[in-house]
Amino acid sequence: MAEATRTRPDTTTVVRTKDVTKVYVMGKVKVPALKGVTLDIQAGEYISIMGPSGSGKSTLFNMIGGLDKPTGGFVYIDEVDVAQLDAYELAWLRCRKIGYIFQTFNLIPVMSALENVTLPMTFAGMTTDEARDKGMGLLARVGLAERYNHKPSELSGGQQQRVAIARAMANSPNIILADEPTGNLDLSTGKEIINILGDMNRNEGVTIITATHDIKMVSASDRIVWIRDGRLAKIERREDLDIEVGSIGGDAEGGIEASLQGAGDAGSQEEEGEKEE
Ligand code: ADP
Ligand code: MG
Repeated sequence: MAEATRTRPDTTTVVRTKDVTKVYVMGKVKVPALKGVTLDIQAGEYISIMGPSGSGKSTLFNMIGGLDKPTGGFVYIDEVDVAQLDAYELAWLRCRKIGYIFQTFNLIPVMSALENVTLPMTFAGMTTDEARDKGMGLLARVGLAERYNHKPSELSGGQQQRVAIARAMANSPNIILADEPTGNLDLSTGKEIINILGDMNRNEGVTIITATHDIKMVSASDRIVWIRDGRLAKIERREDLDIEVGSIGGDAEGGIEASLQGAGDAGSQEEEGEKEE
C-alpha cells in the first residue's frame, strides 16, 4: 500500500480543467464532444489520454493547449484561467509555455530540420546565433544532429517526428502536448518516439500530455486518463497496471521495458524528486 502515499505533497498543478464542455455546432446539428471534464495534471507528470476514435481526445487537447475555447467550464494553465487571457497573452502561452506535437508532424516543408526547430525561438526573440546553438543541441538530443540541413521530405516519418519533438522543446516549455504522436508511425519507430518523450519528461522535467489510442504509451505514462464519449471514464496510475502492461509489451526491447521495470520500485520515487526542479 506504500504506492498510495506516492502523491507528491509539494507538487504544483500545471493544468487544471473544471467541468469542461465542448459542443460543436454544425448548422442545425450539435455535436457534444466533451461533457464535463475535470482533471488536474501535476508538474512533471507524463499523462496519456486514452480512448477510442471520436471520444474527445483531440478536443480536450485543443482546450488544454489554448487552441480552441470550451463551450463551458474552465481551463487553467499554471492556475491562470486561459479564457481570461488577451490575444497577446495567449500567443505568449502558446509560444513559450507549451510545445505541440501532432500526428502528421506539421513541419514546414520548405525549411530544413534546423530552421523548423529554430523558428519558434525566433518568434520568441532569440538571436540567430543563440537559436542555432540551441537548435543544434536539440537536434542532437533527438539523434538528428547530422540531418540538420535536411528538409522534411528528405526525412522518414520517425525522423520528422523527432524534429517535431525538438521544435516542441524550442522555447523550453513546461508542457508538451502531443496528439497521437505515434499515430502515423510503425511499431518500433513509435517506441523510439515514446522513449524520447519519456526522456524529455525525466531529464527536463517537462510535463507530457499525450492524446493517444496507442497502448504502447501506457508504459511511459505516470497516469492514464481514459476518456469515453466525452467523459472521463477512469484514471489509473501506471504502477497499478504493471502486470497488464508487462504482457502487452512482451515483444518490446530496451528502454520501455527498462523503465517499466523501475516503475514501482523505490528508485522511481527519487526520479520524481528530480523532476520537481
Ligand atoms: P478523438 O480525438 O478522440 O478521435 P475528437 O476530439 O476529434 O475525438 O472528436 C470528438 C467528437 O467531436 C467526434 O464526434 C467528432 O466527430 C466531433 N468533432 C471533432 N472536431 C469537430 C469539429 N471541428 N466540428 C464538428 N465536430 C467535431
Ligand atoms: Mg484525435
